[in-house]
Amino acid sequence: MPDNGVHDLIIIGGGPGGLAAGIYAMRAALKTVLIEMAAPGGQVNNSDSVENWPGDVHISGAELATKFSQHAQSYGLEIIYQEVVELEPGLDYHRVKLANGTRLQAHAVILATGGSPRKLNVPGEEDYYGKGISYCAVCDGFFFRDKTVVVVGGGDTAAEESLYLAKLAKKVYLVHRRDQLRAGALLQQRVKADCNIDIQWNSVVTEIKANDDGVYAVELKDTQTGAQRELATDGVFIFIGFDPNNTLVPAGTKMNADGYVITDEK
Ligand code: NAP
Repeated sequence: MPDNGVHDLIIIGGGPGGLAAGIYAMRAALKTVLIEMAAPGGQVNNSDSVENWPGDVHISGAELATKFSQHAQSYGLEIIYQEVVELEPGLDYHRVKLANGTRLQAHAVILATGGSPRKLNVPGEEDYYGKGISYCAVCDGFFFRDKTVVVVGGGDTAAEESLYLAKLAKKVYLVHRRDQLRAGALLQQRVKADCNIDIQWNSVVTEIKANDDGVYAVELKDTQTGAQRELATDGVFIFIGFDPNNTLVPAGTKMNADGYVITDEK
């Protein structure tokens, strides 16, 4: 195809999905550019340890992210570090506008924009974000060395991050809304065996309490009895899943109730 400034493919998002797409596209000799607004590798950058990636018994998330990126770039994949602010689908080609004003065109666009940490949406959460409230243990755990922290959630992320924080903090309270963790069996075993982790079953955080010095407590509600109680803590780490970053998805695209695009086998 003649080089008319139109790419064959623009990939939006440089997480594992986008970088994998980049590897395949470059191997297929497609004129491709990948746009990433932060660090390549996506959410895995925030993982202390990855132990279920075939071929690596143990690897840090940041190291794995670097390897993904190096692999894609070894094929010459161009990566632009910018935010995409607009995607305009077209019949001949699609237009992509970047935050710096650059406009790109491509015959195909892959949206691999991942997700953002889900919020609890309780009083205190927005006001004290960064002052004792975090969505990333690897980034902020250090500040809670020998302190008490609350981790909210019951999935793999909450379990893994609790284990990471338990090595640093004086005490980790894992607050989960049910009486059973969602996390995989091995992680569950490790969490339950860690004497520094105290699971607060059937509990939800209804408020994060803080003053000028930062977080000092959470208000918990028992999901079975409705009883309220205060739990003293120096910090709150929230790992209750991710919401898809779907703002660039063109209008009219079929999505499910959680905001994920409904796909088929193609
Ligand atoms: P997740 O699997 O969706 O788990 C979210 C957890 O938060 C669930 O336990 C859920 O409770 C709880 N939750 C959701 N909304 C809540 C709310 N408003 N208030 C209180 N609790 C709430 O999310 P994730 O743990 O981030 O994992 C995301 C995906 O990545 C999963 O597929 C996971 O397997 C994967 N992952 C894998 C690994 C690994 O393999 N090592 C590590 C990290 C993540 P319920 O259980 O009651 O629904």
